Amino acid sequence: MLLKARSCGIQYVTRLELAFTKSSFHNMPCEVAARFLILYGSQRGQAQSIAEEICQQAAEHGFTADISCLSNQHKYNVDREIRPVVFVVSTTGDGDPPDTAHKFVRKIKNKSLVHDHFSHLRYALLALGDTNYANFCNGGKTIDSRLQQLGAKHFYATGHADDGTGLEVVVDPWIEGLWDALKKIFSSMSSSNQQSADLSDCTQDNYHKNASGQEKNKSGLEVDLQLLKLSEVDSQKGKTITSDSSDVETLSTALVASLKQSVPPLSESVLNVPALPASYLEVCLEQVSTEGETVPSDKDGYREVSISKAVQLTQDDAVKNAILLELDISEQSIAYQPGDAFDILCPNRASEVEELLLRLDLQTQKNCAVQVNLLKNSSKKAAKVPLHIPQSGSLQFILTWCLEIRSAPKKAFVRALADFTQNGSEKRRLLELCSKEGSADYNSFVRDTNVCLLDLLRAFPSCLPPLSLLFEHLPKLQPRAYSAASSSLQHPGKVHFVFNVVEFPACPEHPARTGLCTGWLADHVSSILRPLGTVPASEHLGTSSQPKVHVRPRPSSTFHLPADPSIPVVMVGPGTGVAPFIGFLQQREKEREANQEATFGETWLFFGCRHKDKDFLFREELERFEHNGTLSHLIVCFSRDEPDAAGTVNTPTYVQHNLRLHAKNVASILLKNKGSLYVCGDAKNMAKDVNDTLLEIIGNELQIDKLDAMKIVAGLREEKRYLQDIWS
Ligand code: FAD
Repeated sequence: MLLKARSCGIQYVTRLELAFTKSSFHNMPCEVAARFLILYGSQRGQAQSIAEEICQQAAEHGFTADISCLSNQHKYNVDREIRPVVFVVSTTGDGDPPDTAHKFVRKIKNKSLVHDHFSHLRYALLALGDTNYANFCNGGKTIDSRLQQLGAKHFYATGHADDGTGLEVVVDPWIEGLWDALKKIFSSMSSSNQQSADLSDCTQDNYHKNASGQEKNKSGLEVDLQLLKLSEVDSQKGKTITSDSSDVETLSTALVASLKQSVPPLSESVLNVPALPASYLEVCLEQVSTEGETVPSDKDGYREVSISKAVQLTQDDAVKNAILLELDISEQSIAYQPGDAFDILCPNRASEVEELLLRLDLQTQKNCAVQVNLLKNSSKKAAKVPLHIPQSGSLQFILTWCLEIRSAPKKAFVRALADFTQNGSEKRRLLELCSKEGSADYNSFVRDTNVCLLDLLRAFPSCLPPLSLLFEHLPKLQPRAYSAASSSLQHPGKVHFVFNVVEFPACPEHPARTGLCTGWLADHVSSILRPLGTVPASEHLGTSSQPKVHVRPRPSSTFHLPADPSIPVVMVGPGTGVAPFIGFLQQREKEREANQEATFGETWLFFGCRHKDKDFLFREELERFEHNGTLSHLIVCFSRDEPDAAGTVNTPTYVQHNLRLHAKNVASILLKNKGSLYVCGDAKNMAKDVNDTLLEIIGNELQIDKLDAMKIVAGLREEKRYLQDIWS
């Protein structure tokens, strides 16, 4: 039996299976054609590209798939759909379905729908999420549970893919198992000639068997790709690389794997690689000068505003460099509330764009206008010219403002790059990195180290991809969000942000660099940046000399102060996580001044930083709030300061330790006084630790076990009294 490697989502299927699949469909009555529907709800394009991948692979498995975005409701009708439906749904915000799925969710949540409204529907659902955030995969879960409530049945178990650990860990085996599940559902529809078969037995097992994934390989199947064998000919050296060749010896003497080289057993393995993704774009460069086009136009709701102030909030010797920006939004009449955020559009680094152009031999054509069209005869299903690539933009403009050139290339991209790599050993390594066997190496040397295209091109000098490949694989350059750290009551016509300059130290895979947006912002404001407490030179300058930035409001639906000011609030915001709370407290300070008779609930702020004297952000302002009663309790901890002179043991190190010390108050605010808990900042550690501490506090207070405490916490979330604004 032969194993055929297929797809860019890593799909492996035996030829025998394929033959069986097709022949079994040939025996089906024509009305039960092996046709299914794919519906996706995507926020940033991931769910869409996975859905398109499923669509693309369907034909190889003998199926025909139709595909539609959930927002195109005129293109499908689940109320009457008798074909199996595959949903791919991402999650955004505080566990919300993506914007493109809102209408659909509203429609299925309609209370007038009867309990068996979807009893005709057979479906599978792949939910995408990130365990670093609350309400993991909730976008997909919301749709899934509502469909179940209304009588729809799974024909395949739901997959929950975690962007925190790598979507492909779940997505690839899930897709792998989907074909078998579809085969079964079609057979069952065919034999009973209707859709009412009991499908419950082709769910969990099916998926788990495939999720473990190894069985086909273990059975000793031979890989049908000469290209992938170690006996591959090194095209440049004209030598055969085999397991006993000197090349392999040289590689393995080092016995340390790296981005560029593997060690046994991987270097000696026969590889299962994804099939080459179908190319679908054709790019022409026209010699029309587009010089002068340097920033994006005002589309997508972005406005260009001046940066009126930039203040360094931390001391020079602090571990992180925090900067406060003040934007002048007075002329744009942009309204916001504390708790809202703003998207900032930032360009790719000019030096990286230059290097990319040089490396692709396109330096002289950087001002040419780019025309992108669909390739005629492409086998890619539902191919579209990506909307984020403007027609007639210059090449330099597109690489600077439209494509996330820093993103870690997905395995499909690595696979495609291998085909444009001349040197045999380099090609072999790229194939290893995208192979099933090389998954651990891909995670260590590409994904976890955030290697980007340029890093790969540096590491593999004989790789020379065409521009069309970059346009097909590089995602849209995403804006970065920053929480408002001000209230417009206190700073009319202005909004403040605070951010840490993200730093990635040099490693074998790439040189040292700063985060794309924070590094750019730090450079961009360097001419007006001043240390805390000094006179702002920029106030004497006209707005024309102030740096500019493109921003767009990103309102939060929930992360706001309670409408009733008498409700007590607990805020947890270490480091730059304090940003929205500065906005909350400025607002509260003004409201208290304006309305002295009103009752205001208690306000608690748990703040933390490394050193009291180096990175205690907004120290003076917070102390003022405490002094004038705006803030009832300012509870601070310093994680890297020595214990005080008295040698106090068990000094609280992190915010959760202080929460524990004030457990009684926190519990009483949340459980007795209907108060709210807000958490803002680092998603990876802090938010999880705070959540665990909250469970502990509630468990101890009510003398209940963890499961019951979790139910109470879930209830607080549901009532929007436990709110998170967290980022990684
Ligand atoms: P990027 O270049 O995007 O890098 C960021 C991440 O990419 C890293 O954390 C890491 O996971 C990965 N990464 C990239 N390169 C590497 C590498 N070489 N090695 C390892 N990992 C790598 N941030 C604030 O500072 N203040 C705020 O008020 C704030 N508010 C926010 C509000 C919201 C609603 C959201 C969603 C986010 C908020 N953020 C805030 C986070 C902010 O949007 C950015 O993510 C952050 O500033 C980093 O952006 P960057 O472009 O500098 O970094």
